[in-house]
Amino acid sequence: MERPFFEVTHYIGGVFVDRGERFAIRYPATDEVIGTAPEGGWDEVDAAVRAARAAFATWGKTPATERRKVLKAFAQAIRDHAEELARIETWDVGRPIRENRAGYIDRVAANIDFFADLAVMHGSEAYPMENGYINYVLREPVGVAALITPWNVPMMLATWKIGPALAFGNTVVLKPAELTPIGAWRLAQLAHQAGLPPGVLNVVHGFGPASAGEFLTRHPDVQLISFTGETTTGRTIMAAAAGNLKRLSFELGGKGANIVFADADLDRAVEVSLRAAFFNQGEFCLAGSRLLVERPVWDAFLERFAAATARLRPGDPMDPDTTLGALISREHLDRVRGYLDSARKDGAEVVLGGDAPDLPAPFQAGHFLQPTILAGLPPEHRVCREEVFGPVVTVVPFDTEEEAIGIANAVEYGLSAVVQTRDLGRAVRVAGALEAGTVWVNDFFVRDLRAPFGGMKQSGIGREGGTYSLEFYTEARTVCLSNR
Ligand code: NAD
Repeated sequence: MERPFFEVTHYIGGVFVDRGERFAIRYPATDEVIGTAPEGGWDEVDAAVRAARAAFATWGKTPATERRKVLKAFAQAIRDHAEELARIETWDVGRPIRENRAGYIDRVAANIDFFADLAVMHGSEAYPMENGYINYVLREPVGVAALITPWNVPMMLATWKIGPALAFGNTVVLKPAELTPIGAWRLAQLAHQAGLPPGVLNVVHGFGPASAGEFLTRHPDVQLISFTGETTTGRTIMAAAAGNLKRLSFELGGKGANIVFADADLDRAVEVSLRAAFFNQGEFCLAGSRLLVERPVWDAFLERFAAATARLRPGDPMDPDTTLGALISREHLDRVRGYLDSARKDGAEVVLGGDAPDLPAPFQAGHFLQPTILAGLPPEHRVCREEVFGPVVTVVPFDTEEEAIGIANAVEYGLSAVVQTRDLGRAVRVAGALEAGTVWVNDFFVRDLRAPFGGMKQSGIGREGGTYSLEFYTEARTVCLSNR
């Protein structure tokens, strides 16, 4: 296997700078060190925010059509480097390369393209008053945006935030997750080559508490934070951001229910449930990690679902035939195994998996877990309510629509859910009753970038996507025009 070594740097004011103590980057599939990245402290964060602030004076006033030109060049550079970026994402995350080749990098680029276009195409509001006056609304960029991203889908979430922030005229300091810094560094290089002016996009690496993440959330010249990560981190960031009342958008944890009704097309339900449970090794906020199955099809569904799950192939993520990758770190694998221990202790039936797969060197040192199906736990068990964030799905039976809705809603999260049925009326009723920001009917993880995305309850604050991103990343100014 070809072993790259990535010497990741910050990107501040248009310059790639190596400042701060370097920390190791490990490949999740083998636990080998595949690079190092520098930890940014207050000085690096401050330098990046200053650079962003200075660049804002020009970028914020650049016509949207001009911004679109350079952002389109950036998006094209992403497409031109699709295979390289697909591999980098796998080095960072341990996700199978086949998932990255199947549209993932396209989406990374589309996040930039889409918002570059939207910033040019969106109109504005006008309110003619009875007295002949007119109120009209102008949308203007907010200022310096701090974008803080997690390790599970790093490139997709980086551009999901960079795209709208820059397209609407803000400047950016991105703090990628410490476990996956390579992609953000490479994206910064591509943006630089595409002609993004210095200071418009900055990337500072480092950790969360008492490190680059926290310093960014406390910086008085940051006006806005878009954060994706754990709910508990969201709470900490909210408190830190109170100092200068930063505008916040939070996309947090999830514990998605996937409800299979007896009238569902079972073959399709199995295929959808497989993706919902095991995409990205289940390290996915949107994962359908709680399967609720209507009792009449319990046996038939479970048999087929277990058979399909048993065909998943854990192993070398760079092998195009591999369908299940490695978990992000030893520590995270231990956490997931802790959930399995607690399930076993409380009498769960391990329908499938539950152990490390038997893999050849060097992958036996990686953080792998067999795809795992657990039955026999009550829906209120912690494994059925807390975010496990691994290839572990719990299966619970139900008898009525009301019962399924009740179980689905009885968690603190409200990010997403899946409903599988051929009864249109039922689909509409259940989708309308679930406490979830996104509900898929007979599918999973397909979304128009114009649609709002975000979570209810402890899964987030606010929505991004389409005009929702426009609202978040801009200030609205109302001008009242007199006719006298
Ligand atoms: P995390 O909250 O530990 O870290 C996310 C980012 O925040 C990292 O860059 C980290 O360095 C930074 N950070 C940590 N503490 C901080 C602090 N005190 N101040 C400022 N920054 C801080 O999350 P994670 O473990 O990287 O990611 C997994 C979590 O992300 C899961 O809970 C998952 O559900 C969630 N997630 C949500 C969505 C969504 O769209 N809702 C998408 C992907 C992941």
